[in-house]
Amino acid sequence: MVSRAEVNHNFTDAELDELRSFGTIESHKAGDLLVEEGAMAPDCIVTLSGHTDIFASTDEGRKRVGWMERGQFAGDLSVLTGQRHLSRVEMGADGEILRIAHLDFQRLIAGNSHYSDIFVRVLSARREFSNHRGFAVTIVVVAAMDRSVYALRDLLMKHGVAHRWFDPADGPVAGHLMAERGLTGDQLPVVILGAADVLVQPTPEQLAAGLGLDLLPDGATADVLVVGSGPGGLAAAVYAASEGLTVIALDSLAPGGQAGTSSKIENYLGFPTGISGNELARRATVQAQKFGARIVAPVRASAIGRDGDDAYCLQLADGRKLRSRAVVVASGAQYQRLPIEGIEAYEGRGIYYGATPMEAQLCGDAEVTVVGSGNSAGQGAIYLASVAKKVHVIFRRGSLRETMSEYLVKRLEEHPNIEIIPSTDVVGLHGEERLSGLTYRCRETGAEGHCDCGFLFLFLGANPNTTWLPKEMVCDERGFVKTGTDIAPLELVKAGWSLDRMPSRYETSWPRIYAIGDVRKGSVKRVASSVGEGSVVVSDIHQALAEIGATLS
Ligand SMILES: Cc1cc2nc3c(=O)[nH]c(=O)nc-3n(C[C@H](O)[C@H](O)[C@H](O)COP(=O)(O)OP(=O)(O)OC[C@H]3O[C@@H](n4cnc5c(N)ncnc54)[C@H](O)[C@@H]3O)c2cc1C
Repeated sequence: MVSRAEVNHNFTDAELDELRSFGTIESHKAGDLLVEEGAMAPDCIVTLSGHTDIFASTDEGRKRVGWMERGQFAGDLSVLTGQRHLSRVEMGADGEILRIAHLDFQRLIAGNSHYSDIFVRVLSARREFSNHRGFAVTIVVVAAMDRSVYALRDLLMKHGVAHRWFDPADGPVAGHLMAERGLTGDQLPVVILGAADVLVQPTPEQLAAGLGLDLLPDGATADVLVVGSGPGGLAAAVYAASEGLTVIALDSLAPGGQAGTSSKIENYLGFPTGISGNELARRATVQAQKFGARIVAPVRASAIGRDGDDAYCLQLADGRKLRSRAVVVASGAQYQRLPIEGIEAYEGRGIYYGATPMEAQLCGDAEVTVVGSGNSAGQGAIYLASVAKKVHVIFRRGSLRETMSEYLVKRLEEHPNIEIIPSTDVVGLHGEERLSGLTYRCRETGAEGHCDCGFLFLFLGANPNTTWLPKEMVCDERGFVKTGTDIAPLELVKAGWSLDRMPSRYETSWPRIYAIGDVRKGSVKRVASSVGEGSVVVSDIHQALAEIGATLS
């Protein structure tokens, strides 16, 4: 838990003088509104004289949670990310403030490491502090059994959006919130965003737009477009932006990728006690934004084509088009489903593809089944065993040791709550509204069994996310993208390679389109290797852009 001291900083008079050039000085009377709760792309407010008051919405209503005196600044992480501001800032006593507009603030952070260190450290600590205290301007009113619960909650959790959650069945608060806004029960689910905005029965895309997660204009250009913001894409965004390239990184879900679904990554350098995938993604996203990269999600790339001699046009699923001279394909891979008809009906309602605190909270003290025999299955099982009554680990192979690291196998074998069931397939799923049980069959004897288990976690390996790439781009038989010397000369010719040099190590058969991380043929499917590839690809991009000279207009 962060301390009160960590959530504040006092700028010296000399620093205040320097900061003045980034903003405008305003005089205000006590009570003047400076930033509204829930405002998008909010300004950063530095107090020059008098003081400002900070109010936040809590379960007990709106409360004054702090005040900023001369040299201190108001604002939460949203002044950097552009998302909705968590608090309302008012002038507390007559005085002057320095208002740094959102875009100027981003420029200040990207261009000045002294101020960037201070602001990013304090803003990150404030976000942690306010999460701990339960401050949230986003309120979701929805019945627990509503079909859309999982999708909305998943989006909020994956993007780290602080929110409060009310089920009308749990008490009168939901009713009061609805009545205050003239809403009725048949309009659920409802999302209340700050002081003024209400979304009725929003889709995840509408919610994302309402939260300020996707403010990308049609026709936007960048030096580099990064498709996929898993560890590889985020690393590419951090390195490219920090080295002066303009970067837009997109993701069809949220930053974090597969790693974001991992409850604990224990083998990533520098985190001796492990780090959750979500936390790693959150930190990397802030780091990329600090250097000026735009991270946009949920936004799906649906096609890519040539745009003149030196540029590419990326088509998004919603019709928008983006242009750049270099593209990093970091779209990773996605989990395989069980080959059982109708499985989609249970996804998010009993079937899950990752074991994070959110899923753990859902299954509470119940029995759960994990299917798979790779390291991700092992990690998931161990994590779930810390909350669930019992974890059944089902897999097709004869032994976990064929595919899982020895340290994980030992932990599974020694765990009192874990039952290991080899040579077995899950062959049937049951349940009305949600999963309530499953049938499994032994591969050796053919004997079938039934388990009243409403939580099934699938860790079955992954296929590359490459259907959006042009069919001329050279891939292997499973769809993983070939790069560098993996591409045979004849394949290069067929793909239309026109340069008098060969593709660099992560370059695909299309010049200046690179593939890194899990989506690349031959990659080591690990967080560290994806991050490594995302980092080093940037030097290849610099060289390739230098070959073609001018920037995109
Ligand atoms: C549960 C689990 C636990 C794991 N634990 C570990 C571990 O402990 N240690 C370790 O080293 N590795 C671990 N891994 C593996 C590791 O997470 C992956 O190797 C790593 O995430 C790959 O990173 P990536 O950036 O290449 O791709 P991904 O992480 O797959 O990210 C790709 C991103 O691209 C997005 N995307 C896909 N298509 C599109 C599109 N058309 N438009 C826009 N965006 C798109 C996806 O939404 C996704 O966010 C684990 C994996 C899982 C599933």
